[in-house]
Amino acid sequence: MLRLRDVTKTYDGKSEVTALAGITLTIDPGEMVAIMGPSGSGKSTLLNLFGGLDVPTSGQVMVAGKDLAGENEKERSLFRRSKISYIFQAYHLMPTLKVSQNVALPLHLAGVSSTEISRRVAQALKDVGLESRANHLPDELSGGERQRVAIARALVTGAPLLLADEPTGNLDSARGEEILKLLRTIHRERGTTIVMVTHDHHAASACDRLISLRDGRVEGDGAVGGGK
Ligand code: ATP
Ligand code: MG
Repeated sequence: MLRLRDVTKTYDGKSEVTALAGITLTIDPGEMVAIMGPSGSGKSTLLNLFGGLDVPTSGQVMVAGKDLAGENEKERSLFRRSKISYIFQAYHLMPTLKVSQNVALPLHLAGVSSTEISRRVAQALKDVGLESRANHLPDELSGGERQRVAIARALVTGAPLLLADEPTGNLDSARGEEILKLLRTIHRERGTTIVMVTHDHHAASACDRLISLRDGRVEGDGAVGGGK
């Protein structure tokens, strides 16, 4: 599903920052993987490359058999829309759209019929326990509720690859636990490949494999206590 070969990413600013320094790794279809590491170790940068939101400075990134660096922006965005859903570290909800409209957005962009949209949005909101907030605006919600709207919006498309940057970062432990269970269920029932950045060892233990980053390099990569 994901294949990186000797990938580096540097940012040119006032001083050059090497965010990723020679990463080679493969994530197979159907894996559920946690990425951990200190702040600034390159986790979000890596996830952005997986999601085709950014391109490497050198090296190759293959997503579902496609070299995204070789595509133009329009092709990359079409590909992203059909194959990848993304839960961002900051939620990126549209402030002027109601909860249900935010969740419906990727389906509208994909040209799904309106009856099908209503059905799938209702199910996704039920999955995250927010049926009663469908008509609220994002700024009428708590941080944890906004997080769950972002998760519903990612689940609604049924894309085969789900990338999540700290999906439980703003939730209390009970809500976090529910979201982890939900992600596991999606993974098991749909075979969705999930890559999740987290600071939380408990969240990582919901995954089957843990990749640890430090200073833009892979420091560790192995199975998590048997999965669940
Ligand atoms: P956190 O846990 O705090 O979210 P992270 O592991 O996700 O950290 P990244 O966001 O990937 O870290 O950043 C890796 C490095 O690249 C950091 O040193 C950061 O300052 C730098 N960096 C990230 N984005 C940019 C950017 N757009 N321009 C310049 N430097 C950047
Ligand atoms: Mg980050």
